[in-house]
Amino acid sequence: MQTKLLIDGDLVAGDGAAETILNPATGQTIASVNEASTGQVDQAVLAAERAFEGWSRTTPAERALLLLRLAERIEAEAGGFAALESLNCGKPLVRAAADELPAVIDVFRFFAGAARILSGSAATEYVANHTSMIRRDPVGVVASIAPWNYPLMMAAWKLGPALAAGNTVILKPSEQTPLTTLKLAAILAEIFPKGVVNIVAGRGESVGVPLTTHQKVRMVSLTGDVTTGQKILQSAAKTLKRTHLELGGKAPVIVFDDADREAVVAGIRMGGFYNAGQDCTAACRVYASARMYDKLVADLGSAISSLRHGKPEDEATELGPLISERQRSRVASFVERAAQLRHTEIVTGGGKVAGGGFFYEPTLVAGALQSDEIVRREVFGPVVSVTRFEDEEQAIAWANDSDYGLASSVWTGSVKTAMKVASRLQYGCVWVNQHFTLTSEMPHGGLKMSGYGKDMSVYSLEDYTSVRHVMLNFG
Ligand code: NAD
Repeated sequence: MQTKLLIDGDLVAGDGAAETILNPATGQTIASVNEASTGQVDQAVLAAERAFEGWSRTTPAERALLLLRLAERIEAEAGGFAALESLNCGKPLVRAAADELPAVIDVFRFFAGAARILSGSAATEYVANHTSMIRRDPVGVVASIAPWNYPLMMAAWKLGPALAAGNTVILKPSEQTPLTTLKLAAILAEIFPKGVVNIVAGRGESVGVPLTTHQKVRMVSLTGDVTTGQKILQSAAKTLKRTHLELGGKAPVIVFDDADREAVVAGIRMGGFYNAGQDCTAACRVYASARMYDKLVADLGSAISSLRHGKPEDEATELGPLISERQRSRVASFVERAAQLRHTEIVTGGGKVAGGGFFYEPTLVAGALQSDEIVRREVFGPVVSVTRFEDEEQAIAWANDSDYGLASSVWTGSVKTAMKVASRLQYGCVWVNQHFTLTSEMPHGGLKMSGYGKDMSVYSLEDYTSVRHVMLNFG
């Protein structure tokens, strides 16, 4: 298993402390990865700084070619990547292979194309005899920090636009899930000039902090927790680094009287429990109209209880374990507190699954009120709450009454209702009659405390470039 870091074009063992990597489906050790020492973080940043001069001056076509080569290499080893991701995260193997790997490959292919079509305003003479033109140039050395829920996909979302735009990167995967990113490191080392991409493994405190506070880093991109985003913002202030933050979510799912109930149930069964609910866009906060409520709760109860948890490698498995015992206990404590309320009902689930691994039952909490913790805080596990609403105004107000603003969905048979509600929801994404589908061409990112960085799409390329003005005097 590849456990070395990538620094200045070389695969090297970490000089820092050893981190034990667990299989969440069994709780057993898979590997040990030595994290980067502070000296190695420094070496990686300085290598990226040296590489920037040459890489930023390559043509978009040259960068595109390497991104396409990377996509091809990942595709050739897709089975191995999917198996490793499943092993390290506990994801059902079929989902990693059929959903995540194709999406990862597509992101690199998208950015290979997008690198060549950056657009801007036309050059013209705003002052007589002076031509003004707009440039978009790379920001410089980018430190990218990824979470544990979709390790390889988050690496792709961060590397794709940053490299396409001509930046050089130091990427740190989560200390819990570094394995696919380290496997990727070996391929990156063969494709990219030395120093252009560096991979350093390790914990937030010991590796993330020296990386994101490094004087030579010009931009920090984080997908992670709100509190981590706040820390990064505070430290970025010292050297005025650009920041790109993708933080948590608590997606509302508004179900009107005229929604197709079967479709809603199927949508929540998938969107609320995909990746065991460890997803910042998870369909976890359902608002059902008063007329829809009873039937929807009943149908959701039976659909959710039919979700099959089991070994990630079994084809029938729909629900894997949570990432760690810590995460499972956190999820369990949210459900325990919700269950103690007099107005709530645990329709199905509500407990840890006995045996090895960090499995938790798929859980439905009915009767939740807008003020309940289970409705307000991100659980990041296989738990969905349902709240009854009386009218459209109340549904919109409750959906927007959240610190988060990442994703949302509206379920209705009326185009008028869909468009009206979509226009008023304060979320980076509104799905209508579905919940979950992302595409490389469209931006993914939030409002409010979900952060403001956009991943994927040309908007992401804009985040990773600086707008500049060049004026030429021909008078
Ligand atoms: P986390 O913030 O604990 O960790 C994320 C990454 O930040 C890890 O690599 C970690 O080592 C690093 N880190 C932690 N402290 C740091 C510090 N002080 N300085 C620098 N780096 C530091 O989050 P997590 O538990 O790994 O991931 C779950 C969170 O990520 C959830 O809140 C979830 O909603 C969010 N998330 C958001 C999106 C999105 O697109 N908005 C996508 C996936 C996950």
